[in-house]
Amino acid sequence: MLFENIAAISTAPIASGVAIIRISGESPLDIAEKMFISSVKPRDFEPYKMYVGTIDCGNIKDFGMCVYFKAPRSYTGEDMVEFHCHGGVAISRAVLTRALELGARLAERGEFTRRAFLNGKMSLSACEGLVDMIYAESEAEARSGYYLYKEKLFKKIGGVQDKLTSVLALIDANIDYPEEDIESAEFDNIKNTLIECKNILVPLVESYKDSSKLSSGVNVAICGRPNAGKSSLLNALLNCDKAIVTDIEGTTRDVVEGKKDIRGVRFNFYDTAGIRDSRNEIERIGIERSKKHIESAHVVIMLCDGTKKLTEDDRTILDSLKGRNYLLVANKRDITGGRIPFECDLAVSALTGENIEALERLLVEKVSLDNVSFDGDFLTEQRHYEALKKALDKLDAALFNMGAMSLDVIAEDIKDAWKQLGLISGETCNEDIINEIFAKFCVGK
Ligand code: GDP
Repeated sequence: MLFENIAAISTAPIASGVAIIRISGESPLDIAEKMFISSVKPRDFEPYKMYVGTIDCGNIKDFGMCVYFKAPRSYTGEDMVEFHCHGGVAISRAVLTRALELGARLAERGEFTRRAFLNGKMSLSACEGLVDMIYAESEAEARSGYYLYKEKLFKKIGGVQDKLTSVLALIDANIDYPEEDIESAEFDNIKNTLIECKNILVPLVESYKDSSKLSSGVNVAICGRPNAGKSSLLNALLNCDKAIVTDIEGTTRDVVEGKKDIRGVRFNFYDTAGIRDSRNEIERIGIERSKKHIESAHVVIMLCDGTKKLTEDDRTILDSLKGRNYLLVANKRDITGGRIPFECDLAVSALTGENIEALERLLVEKVSLDNVSFDGDFLTEQRHYEALKKALDKLDAALFNMGAMSLDVIAEDIKDAWKQLGLISGETCNEDIINEIFAKFCVGK
């Protein structure tokens, strides 16, 4: 497929050593020909080789490099040219502007990658992996993105789709025969293949609960009564003054959040409004929001003032956490010297930083990160999880109906399972899903 030339700056628009401007489409070399001056003319460029020369943008000139990627062995699958100029806003913009004057159109968000997808260079899940990698803030996010980007999930799912296709072919060959005439060996073959497919998909679905923590981080809500020291604890964990600390109850009206990388995994901490009965409308809204964060957190830190006995309010909050993954932490250890008037998981001082590292270790244990590993296969995207769950439901229905229903009914369930799996690779995705995914990209990728 030939598309019009698109161009964009692929590097960050800040003062920097080098900036890269990309052009992709039907004739990027024609554009390069008119703006790159070197001993070898761009139209005579050997692909994948860097050439030095003058990038002529009209008013501005720069001495830089140019490289030609020949279709289909390029990122987008089309002919591509990259200019490597000196970094910085003015020069990179001038190079881009010149490329646009010479006929390219400004690329939309993720349009280079979208073309790679449309040209069959990457599956949709690989594109999602790439977004994860670009926005990764922790080692775990970068690694889980790379897993998708390198098509590991796609290959695994593709293997299951191939098995389903072979089952459908077998059904197709037998569809005209009444049920009782199908050889039992073929019947067993269909059934066993469906079971094999299930055996591949079930562990993937089961891995989602823990593995999603790798890609989107572990959510930790800090809750407790006003003045327990929640804002101080958030600041101590993040090592900065993010939340406002005062003696005035009800200061934290809304949820304050901050991120921290612990053992390569992103932890999202939420300092919630102190939970108490309040007549103040704004505080009440904050308390409601806090409750939602507490409900959806992977782990909750219930923080209590370690200088006092547990109050009735403390016990009410603790009751509401029954069955949840939580830690009861006593604060203000610096005042009590470690003598805490109630049983707790850990005593810390948000003021002096005492035992904050121990708290981090406890959190890592509590969210069972040790169950999460990069060896083997795992599922991190909710979209993939939903599709796999639906595919499994369809396979279950097909297995349940085997022997009881006609083969064409069973084939329909198997086709539906195949289509659900196709949502992961992008084969069966509609335009809306594709648009949603590429909207997450930045311009120039
Ligand atoms: P929040 O309402 O639960 O967010 O509590 P704050 O973080 O605003 O703290 C309430 C008061 O307790 C402030 O005066 C803090 O300086 C104080 N405070 C918080 N943590 C500690 C601590 O570990 N030791 C001592 N001595 N005071 C603390």
